[in-house]
Amino acid sequence: MWQKRLIIQSSAHSISSVDDIALSRIISTVHLSTPADDPVMPSSEGVHLSYLKLALEEARKCVPTPTAFCVGAVLTVGYPAEADPVVLATGYSRELPGNTHAEANALAKARALSSAERKGLLPALSPDTTIDDILAHADIYTTMEPCSVRTSGLAPCANAIVDARIRRCFIGVGEPDDFVKCEGAQRLRDAGVEVIWLKGLEQECLEVARTGR
Ligand SMILES: [Zn+2]
Repeated sequence: MWQKRLIIQSSAHSISSVDDIALSRIISTVHLSTPADDPVMPSSEGVHLSYLKLALEEARKCVPTPTAFCVGAVLTVGYPAEADPVVLATGYSRELPGNTHAEANALAKARALSSAERKGLLPALSPDTTIDDILAHADIYTTMEPCSVRTSGLAPCANAIVDARIRRCFIGVGEPDDFVKCEGAQRLRDAGVEVIWLKGLEQECLEVARTGR
């Protein structure tokens, strides 16, 4: 079954042994002046940054609109926990019908995977493992802090991430107050999701997000 391992004081599951070493090193050297003291990873830490770059590619697929951001998200999971993570699903703003958001779309697309598709992605998966089980061991990378307020009445992405029991959320840039005040990172943290701010692509994430503005 899924194996869990503690990394320093974080509750994160390991992605791989190599990654554990890197993550331990990063967390032990985090800056203490970060938002709410969440860990900040320097951009040199390749594996996480590569997934954020993939999320940026998703964000660039958005049809720009002046009334919303262009955001991309990538869901990854490793099975068993020591295995290299694979991309479970990706998503971007308004990809699915309606005024949908990147993170919620990635989650919806992951849930829509057939059992054969899941097995193709994660060959070691046992047949009785549900998508909820898989998501509970997944990480999400998003170019912008998950939303905590939806003026459209749809559920905020932070809630969707919490409901899916995603273990870690890697964020490219905080959401500016262009539309609403975002408290997504705080909501995730309050619910026990580990929030990690990836360093180095903040400006790029913001520029892509504001493409239609
Ligand atoms: Zn959202």
